[in-house]
Amino acid sequence: MKTDPVCGMTVTADSSPQIEHDGETYYFCSEHCQHKFQQSPKQYLHQHDEHVNVAPPEDKSAIYTCPMHPEIEQHKNLKTNK
Ligand SMILES: [Zn+2]
Repeated sequence: MKTDPVCGMTVTADSSPQIEHDGETYYFCSEHCQHKFQQSPKQYLHQHDEHVNVAPPEDKSAIYTCPMHPEIEQHKNLKTNK
C-alpha cells in the first residue's frame, strides 16, 4: 500500500500510475493526480515528507529532517557536529 502524495488517498502499488522523482517512486490514485504532481512536485513533496518529521512541533531544538532539501540537512549537520 502506498499513499498518493497529491490527494492523500491510499493506493495499491501494482495497479496505480507511478513516476520516479529524485530517485523515489511515487504512486497515484489516478493519472489526474499524477499530472498534478508532475506540474509542481515540490508542492506535494512537502506533504509527502510530513511523516518524516519526527520532531514534536513544540520542540524548537529539533531539526526538521527533509531529504529533499539539502539546506535543511545542513542545519542538521551543523548541529550534529557541535
Ligand atoms: Zn489522488
